[in-house]
Amino acid sequence: MTSTLSGTVIDLTHPLVPGQVPACAGHPCYNASLSFGLNKGDFANVHTLTLGTHTGTHIDAPYHFFQEGTTVDKLDLALLTAAPAVIADLRNRASHERIMWDDLAAAVEDIKARGARVLLLCTGWSRHWNTPVYSKHPYLDPDVARRLLDLGVKVIGLDAMSPDKVTDEEETADVHRVFLGSGGIIVENLTGLESLVDSGWRHVRVSLLPLNLSGCDGSPIRAVAWEAA
Ligand SMILES: [Zn+2]
Repeated sequence: MTSTLSGTVIDLTHPLVPGQVPACAGHPCYNASLSFGLNKGDFANVHTLTLGTHTGTHIDAPYHFFQEGTTVDKLDLALLTAAPAVIADLRNRASHERIMWDDLAAAVEDIKARGARVLLLCTGWSRHWNTPVYSKHPYLDPDVARRLLDLGVKVIGLDAMSPDKVTDEEETADVHRVFLGSGGIIVENLTGLESLVDSGWRHVRVSLLPLNLSGCDGSPIRAVAWEAA
């Protein structure tokens, strides 16, 4: 947690450290290198970044899977700024365990009571960040995505690399297609959700803001949460 003048903020964002950022097969590896350096006698420090739209903690826009889908620069920022969020505690799942609708019973009641449009799924899998286990995360049954949409949820965020099943042999995208296909937004590679669950905060707000990348399918974000009044 970070203390600020206005209260306490929980950072939900993995640090981007060259060589320590897992990426899906074929995606660019993150790097930051000094192009100009005060220690080399240059006027200022300036880094060059190498990254992809799905590097680290990031957002997926509908255009990620749909040619006519909304691009990241056109997302509704009202959904992603100081948004009331519900957190589902889904810890202690096995590798590749499927999360079913009944597992979300408590969160569903919260969503109905608060009219929240952001749902965060705390699997606890962020503790495996940058290890071989990280890609063996639990995943959502696509039916859950459909029913969340029916409930008015517009943003799903989780502390794993995908809400879909990913194995060495196959990378599925059923949840992505269902959710993004209805104009929903997916946030992946969050961290700090366990701190959020354990905070005891009754009501939470989050900001999950992408870069304004014209025509792009996703963007790294800085994700933060705080206790709502
Ligand atoms: Zn993604």
